[in-house]
Amino acid sequence: MKWIEKFPRNIKPTYEELVWFLPERIRELFLVFDNEMMYKYNVYNNYPRFDKSSGWTYGYCRNYRIELLSVTIGDDSFNVLGVTVKDDESLNAMLEKCKTKYEEGYEERYALLTAAKKANQIERTKFRLDREKKGLAELTENIDTSKFNKIKWSEKVSRNKLVKLYHSEAKGLLDEDLLDEIGYTFYTRCKQARDTREGLERGEIICHYCGTVHKAVSYTALIACPCGYYYTYREYRRSCNSNNIPGGRATEIFNAFTSKWLLCKSASERMLLIDGLVHECHVSAMTGVKGRSVCMNLMDGTLSQIKDMLEMLAGNK
Ligand SMILES: [Zn+2]
Repeated sequence: MKWIEKFPRNIKPTYEELVWFLPERIRELFLVFDNEMMYKYNVYNNYPRFDKSSGWTYGYCRNYRIELLSVTIGDDSFNVLGVTVKDDESLNAMLEKCKTKYEEGYEERYALLTAAKKANQIERTKFRLDREKKGLAELTENIDTSKFNKIKWSEKVSRNKLVKLYHSEAKGLLDEDLLDEIGYTFYTRCKQARDTREGLERGEIICHYCGTVHKAVSYTALIACPCGYYYTYREYRRSCNSNNIPGGRATEIFNAFTSKWLLCKSASERMLLIDGLVHECHVSAMTGVKGRSVCMNLMDGTLSQIKDMLEMLAGNK
């Protein structure tokens, strides 16, 4: 069956389907070519498009679709730069042409276009930030800016305190005040995260000074709280994300802690619950399964500082 009949415009073949469409001998030649593109010229088969006469065609390029060449597929051959490849000889002739094409200034073209795209990106970002800044200045013209978007998130748990707690437990003299302090810090942060993120999904924000819930009418409109503080939904949401407020794939871990903490009856139960959470942090920091952010969401310090501490608590150091 012809390539274009098997894969018409509405059926885009995967890379595997492309490879398996080719007869075995041609497939080997194609893979040699594909490999050479990757290792010699650092270009990849990543821009499929449909052409009326030759069907699905593949561009070999890096990012920004800066293309070195493209490949069309025949019944028992493939075509690159006008060479129909069906045996070693035509393969070599084609690879020679690729080399010439590459040397005709691909790197220069790539550097030039990439720089232009980046400059454009920077320009657009600058424009956006200027516009946002101007917007915020207009918005806050008549209000007390010391009360504008003063967002204060619950604290993370201090690594030092956590280490102290574990030492006290290891000595058989569990420091219960410290235990409660740490537990409540975890609890407050997880609880605030849950309330905040659930609210944000509904377009609501919670005043960090009086707890009033506000429905945002738009992304950027001024929200005035009766207590005297002001917010915008956009900055509030950004602040939530940039402050590592718990959420994402590990949400169920944080929520489980929030629901169980207040139900704990004894110090040993509370220690067990904290230890479970610390264990989850350890697992996620080491494997990244739940997103490495779990520990960053809850504990102060950099990822490597937290990792070191967790390894130590787990007795591996
Ligand atoms: Zn308020």
